[in-house]
Amino acid sequence: MSVALFTLGGTISVTGGRRLTGADLTAAVPGLSEVGHAVEIQDVEAVSSANLTAAKMLEVVDAASKAVAAGATGVVVTQGTDTLEETAFLVDQVWPHPQPFVLTGAMRNPTLAGPDGPANLLAAVRVACSPAARDLGALVVFKDEIHAARWVRKTHSMSTATFVSPNVGPIGHLVEDRVSVLTRPLRLDGVQGSAEPADLDAIRVALYTVTMDDDGLLLRGLADTHQGLVVAGFGVGHVPAALVPGLEELAARMPVVLTSRTGAGSIGRSTYKSPGSEFDLLQRGLIDGGFLDPYKARVLLRLLLATDDDLATAFGQYV
Ligand code: ASP
Repeated sequence: MSVALFTLGGTISVTGGRRLTGADLTAAVPGLSEVGHAVEIQDVEAVSSANLTAAKMLEVVDAASKAVAAGATGVVVTQGTDTLEETAFLVDQVWPHPQPFVLTGAMRNPTLAGPDGPANLLAAVRVACSPAARDLGALVVFKDEIHAARWVRKTHSMSTATFVSPNVGPIGHLVEDRVSVLTRPLRLDGVQGSAEPADLDAIRVALYTVTMDDDGLLLRGLADTHQGLVVAGFGVGHVPAALVPGLEELAARMPVVLTSRTGAGSIGRSTYKSPGSEFDLLQRGLIDGGFLDPYKARVLLRLLLATDDDLATAFGQYV
């Protein structure tokens, strides 16, 4: 029995002089050998998560699929935490297997007092080989908590408690050496078409956060350069009235998804009716992003455009 470990760099592997490899990372984890599963390492690329690409993640998913086909019980990926909420959600959309796909990292690098990487890696391996974590898609394991990819957010720039799932909380915990899954969210449908790295690379989806007194100048001409747009609106999905004609025009030319910039909760549908309200924007053709935060909505829209999937069906799962 084995767990496939893919390393992608990030703080978990950063020391002053050189990047730690998977062999270095696993050697620093007390108790790993007692988990009872061999860890099969593939060092993919030592890259900060700001430089990770969706195409690279699809390559990792492909390699991970081969590993589970060859008998791996589960998969662990170590990477930088900055984009981990996006990569985890992307993986969740394309991972068809029952085996757990667990992503983790660290906030305190190995040269600091109290680095969290070894504990996170141990917890991630435990979850990856746990029968309780099967059929849950992609998971983020951090600070002995298990988070579903579809809800998890990075919420603090430095704290080791940075990963939280604002709308629901963690779905499980590590308790001593046990994996305890407290709630099992229904698995939603991922993207139906096959997402090819080159197709995804070719799709540009913009993310636009509205701000007070915004004149929308940056949105002009966007449909000439991008294939989709996610709007992070105020509160339940509002924008200044001045942006409405421009957004309506864009929505006629490409998919425009409406989300909330608040960090938790869903956008509304019919509470407010004035120009620029959620009701108004949805009437003008924007797509309801529901509970999806703007970053995940962007990941999903890009995948759907690359696979030619039905947008309403896919986004409809999150409302
Ligand atoms: N800046 C680092 C990265 O995302 C932070 C981390 O690894 O946690 O690669």
